[in-house]
Amino acid sequence: MVAWLLHHTTVPPLATSPYNLNTHITYKTQGVAQISELLKEAGGVINIEDLLPLFPDFVAIDRFKAAITAALEEYNMQIDQLKQEMHDATRVADALRKDLAMLDQRTATLDVAQPCAACGGALAAPPPPSAGCSGGSMPRFFLFPTGNAYHAACCVAKTLPLVSPQQAQRIRLLVKRLSLVPEGKEMAPDFQGQGSARVGDLRVQLQAEAGAADPLCSELLLPLLSRPFVGEDDDALTSWQV
Ligand SMILES: [Zn+2]
Repeated sequence: MVAWLLHHTTVPPLATSPYNLNTHITYKTQGVAQISELLKEAGGVINIEDLLPLFPDFVAIDRFKAAITAALEEYNMQIDQLKQEMHDATRVADALRKDLAMLDQRTATLDVAQPCAACGGALAAPPPPSAGCSGGSMPRFFLFPTGNAYHAACCVAKTLPLVSPQQAQRIRLLVKRLSLVPEGKEMAPDFQGQGSARVGDLRVQLQAEAGAADPLCSELLLPLLSRPFVGEDDDALTSWQV
């Protein structure tokens, strides 16, 4: 019937013209049975709630009870489904919250004879000078759930090329500041225009910026997937030219 209506109309398409639809409902259909059939053939494109505003002011709604009931039942089902999805999402969020809380409290045993995952030297030994600033109030190690352990300076050196320039700048400042504060001090003095701060707070900041993800095994490495194996200035690039 939808096809018939569309075929016999001379005004814009059914879906774009409420007036057109109104005209068809009023003059082209003959009773409830035909409107019900129209709804069935529309296959969900038109619902009873789309048609109700187009009926004359004094039409008995009772005559469309079946269609209205069906629409309400469908809405009820959709609401139940949404409730279930919300319940599931809440359960997942609760589980994640619990996991995160446990992660904060998690401890691990570190063998100081274990090699640093970056430089290969024993964790008990100082990091190589090439790793950058260390000592002072810098943390000694970073240990990740992946099992990799690093000298803090080695972890920072591995992380710097993988983060944004702004984050790298923040990390460098924190490292420099912490390394200048003698070990055991609780407060770090003013530094490059920044007021004094608690050493513990600076360490937490450094951990968030450079110790949150394993630089050898985490999402930090994803940008490398789109990076070429050799740089434009590398001799290797010329060696691959045909
Ligand atoms: Zn190292």
